[in-house]
Amino acid sequence: MKFISTRGGAAVTGAEAIVRGMAEGGGLYVPETIPSVSAGELDGMLSMSYPERAAFILGKYFDEFPEEELLAALNAAYGQFEGDDPAPLVKIEEGLFLLELFHGPTCAFKDMALSVLPYLLRKSCDLLGVKKEILILTATSGDTGKAALEGFADAEGIKVAVFYPDEGVSKMQKLQMVTQDGDNVDVVGVKGNFDDCQAAVKKIFRSQECREKLKEKGVLLSSANSINIGRLVPQIAYYFSAYCDLLSSEQIRFGDRVDFAVPTGNFGNILAGYYAKRMGLPIGTLVCASNRNNVLTDFFNKGTYDKKRPLYRTMSPSMDILVSSNLERLLFEISGRDSALTVERMKALANPGRYSVRAEELKALSQTFYAGYANEEDTVECVYEFFEEFNYPLDTHTGVAMHVARSYCRKRAEDVNAEIRPMVVVSTASPYKFPQAVYYALTGNDVKDSFKGIKRIHLITAMKVPESLKALRYKPPRFKTVVPPEKIFEEVMNFIG
Ligand SMILES: *Cc1c(COP(=O)(O)O)cnc(C)c1O
Repeated sequence: MKFISTRGGAAVTGAEAIVRGMAEGGGLYVPETIPSVSAGELDGMLSMSYPERAAFILGKYFDEFPEEELLAALNAAYGQFEGDDPAPLVKIEEGLFLLELFHGPTCAFKDMALSVLPYLLRKSCDLLGVKKEILILTATSGDTGKAALEGFADAEGIKVAVFYPDEGVSKMQKLQMVTQDGDNVDVVGVKGNFDDCQAAVKKIFRSQECREKLKEKGVLLSSANSINIGRLVPQIAYYFSAYCDLLSSEQIRFGDRVDFAVPTGNFGNILAGYYAKRMGLPIGTLVCASNRNNVLTDFFNKGTYDKKRPLYRTMSPSMDILVSSNLERLLFEISGRDSALTVERMKALANPGRYSVRAEELKALSQTFYAGYANEEDTVECVYEFFEEFNYPLDTHTGVAMHVARSYCRKRAEDVNAEIRPMVVVSTASPYKFPQAVYYALTGNDVKDSFKGIKRIHLITAMKVPESLKALRYKPPRFKTVVPPEKIFEEVMNFIG
C-alpha cells in the first residue's frame, strides 16, 4: 500500500508517510486506495482479541510491516491498559452503547494510537535505513501531548517536544505533562490558544529553513499529531471492534447498520470512523459532536468552513479548536480526490479564513454525517442527567457527544420511516481526567483541587479511579517554561542542543 498527499505529488510508502508525518507543502497522507474488509473477514474478526483485530486492520494499510512483529507490538501496547479489554463496549440501555477508549496510560482515547506509534515509527526508520535522531514535535490541546510523552519517554533515538496552550488545558492535563519522566522529553507552555500553538508547529513542518537547521544537527522531524497517518490507522480498528462486539453479544445481526457519535476537535477520531465505513463496515451515520466551538457544525450544515470567530475556553478543552486539521483529508475524499481544489481550499482557509464546498459535496456529506453541538449548559445538564438516569459518570467531552447523539436519536424517532439503528457513543476520556468540570456537572459545586475532585467523584459514583492519575499526586513538576508562539522553534533548537 502506498500513500499520497492531499495536496498532490508522488506516492510514498507507509514507512515514509509515518516518518515524515506531514507531506511536503503541508499536505496530509492518505492511502492511495482505501482497502476493504469483506464480510468473511469481518466474520473472522469476531473471535479475535482486540490487539489481533487491530493488527488485522493495520496490516491492510501497512503491509510492509512483518505481521507477527506488528501483533507483538500491539499486544505490548494494549497490555499497558487497565483491565483486560482496551476498548470495551458498555451497554447503557436498549440501542445505546458507550465505547470506552480511556483505559490507557493517560486516560484518554489518544492512547489507542499513541501507544502504538513508537513501534510504527521505529520500524519505519529501520525499513528506510534512517539513522538520524527523530524529533517528535507536537502541539496539544491537552491529551495528545501526554499520550505522546508516555509513548515515547526514553525511546532510543527519539526526542519529544510538546507544546501546549498555557491557558487552554485543564489542571490535570497540565499536571500530567509537566511531571513527565524521561531524559528525552521537553514540555513547554505557549502563550495563546491551541490554534496558535498548532499553527506555529505546522509552520515549522512546512519551513525548509527549519528542516535544514535540524538536519545540520542530525535531526529528522516527525509528528505525533493526528496529521500523522500512523495515528489515524490504529483508530480505525476500534470501530471494527465495536461492531464485532455488538455482533458477538447478539445486539445486532450481520450487516445491520450502526451509528457512531464522536466528540470532535481535530477531526481525527471521527475521520477514522469514516475510513472504517469506506472499508465496508456497516456504519449508518457518523454524528460529529462539537462543543461551543461549533465551526464543524456550521460546516456540515451550511457547507462553509469559517474559522473567523472567537475561540472559547470550555469544560471540554480537548475540543477547543477552530482549525480541524484532519478535515483536509475528508475534503480531499469528497472532492473526488482533487488535490488542486484541496490546495485552493486550504489557501482560502489561511486567508481570508473560509471556504465553501459545492452543493453536491454537501449533499454527499449529509448522507454520512450529522453534526450538532452542545454548549456549556447542555453539557452540564447531559452529564448530570445521564448519571441520574444510568448511574454512569460521563466525562465532559463524552457529555458533548451524548447530548448531540440523543438529539439526533430523538429526531430519528420522530421519522416513522427511519431505520432503527443502535447508537454507539465514543467515550474519549475518563471522568477523572477532568475532575473539576465533572464534579461541577454532577453537583453544581466547584472544587479547586483536582485530587479532592477525584475523591469526591469517587464517593458519588464509585467508579474506579485510574492508577495513573492517583500516582500523579505526589509527583513534582519538572517543566516550567512558557514561550510566545514565535519562539517555539528557538525552544526546539535549545532542547536538541
Ligand atoms: C483529542 C480529544 C478529542 C477530539 O478528538 P479529535 O480526534 O481531535 O477530533 C475529544 N475528546 C478527548 C478527551 C480528546 O482528548
